Amino acid sequence: MRLDKYLATVGVGTRSAVKKILKQKQVTVDEITVTDGKLQIDPNTAKVKVGEQVLNYQANYYYMLNKPKGVVSATKDQQKTVLDLLGKKERSQKLFPVGRLDKDTTGLLLLTNDGALSHELLAPKKHVAKVYRAQIAGGVSQETCSAFAKGISLKNGEQTKPAQLRILAVDLKTQKSEVEITISEGKYHQIKRMFGAVGMRVLELKRLQMGSLKLDQNLALGKFRPLTENELADLK
Ligand code: URA
Repeated sequence: MRLDKYLATVGVGTRSAVKKILKQKQVTVDEITVTDGKLQIDPNTAKVKVGEQVLNYQANYYYMLNKPKGVVSATKDQQKTVLDLLGKKERSQKLFPVGRLDKDTTGLLLLTNDGALSHELLAPKKHVAKVYRAQIAGGVSQETCSAFAKGISLKNGEQTKPAQLRILAVDLKTQKSEVEITISEGKYHQIKRMFGAVGMRVLELKRLQMGSLKLDQNLALGKFRPLTENELADLK
């Protein structure tokens, strides 16, 4: 990374302020005074100082995980967590899951150390859409879709926002339905409780999308990969 970009990123000041302090010979990299902002440095290892102040570079990391069943969406737990699926390097990056999936839910989970982005994606006011595929016991009807479109009154009296429910297939023989559901909130066990409120049971649940971020279909269960630049730019 260029030194001037690094200085601006860690909050030393605007680009012109950065230029000025470089010119004034206030910046050292590994104890050597540097005035050229174009110098390439490794932000994770370079010791950069402005005057006597050592700068602290906090890089942000973003990964998508295809969460398998049997792990919890937490950073610490007595049970196996999603962080246990990562490598040693990623485990040192102070990552946390953006929101939670139930232990038996699979699919897209974003892991990051970027608290601001996590907040943006989870803030109720932002209405970030989350798309799930579900297998439901019983035959889901158009009436159920209409009820979901109005919002569901949960058994505890809580009201959900309108949700889009699309029937993909109904197997009359096995009495199971495949559906796609889009919600814009993140209430505890929300989808299971929405179906519970209309007398139906979720058998399988998989998240496919969160905001603009789509689960990579080539990512096997339990595997993760960094977001691409485009995925990250679209999400922000
Ligand atoms: N709704 C649920 O019921 N469970 C999840 O894991 C996610 C949404």
